[in-house]
Amino acid sequence: MSPVPIFGISRHRISIDGKGVTTLVTFQGCPLHCRYCLNDICHSSADTMQHYTPESLYQKVGIDNLYFIATHGGVCFGGGEPLLRVDFIKKFRELAGKGWGLTVETSLNVPLSQVKAVAKVVDDYIIDIKDCNPEIYKAYTDCDNTQVMQNLKWLVEHVGQGHLMVRVPHIPNYNTPEDVARSIAQLREMGIETIDEFDYVVREKKPQK
Ligand code: SF4
Repeated sequence: MSPVPIFGISRHRISIDGKGVTTLVTFQGCPLHCRYCLNDICHSSADTMQHYTPESLYQKVGIDNLYFIATHGGVCFGGGEPLLRVDFIKKFRELAGKGWGLTVETSLNVPLSQVKAVAKVVDDYIIDIKDCNPEIYKAYTDCDNTQVMQNLKWLVEHVGQGHLMVRVPHIPNYNTPEDVARSIAQLREMGIETIDEFDYVVREKKPQK
């Protein structure tokens, strides 16, 4: 497999990106263009980043094997959008075996086939839903959220509650507390139990449309 661009490897994270001690690995590339993106580097040229194969990444993050085993932690794949790298994640799981937890932090705005492709190898999902209202979502990300909601429904039905955490942000200038409450109500209706309501840090990169 060709090496893929990775713009960050952050070790010793506790209770931020999944269970136990985790290492966060962030992939280049994201289909969204969030106005307050904190990882805008993910849209930068791959030439500016280090590239890894699943094998070379496994070797690098393996330095924390004992922490992962002792705390039931592991690796969290973020980005960017990790579900653009499903072949890499599948191969990484083969190397890591079942002793490490694998979490993805995803916007879920990818084809359902990508979600299905990793469903058997990913343990937990942290999903940044933005806002369930399509107009707010479009204004904030420049993208449509139809696929997001379909993918979430599939995950609820096939992966199960205990493995899903949906983050619902208050997005300054884009949604109101009432909008957030409506998103949460819609998610609860879909059967989502673990919801993290939080405030986005504002660091605007692009002019508002
Ligand atoms: S989904 Fe995340 S990485 Fe992608 S543009 Fe939005 S905030 Fe940035």
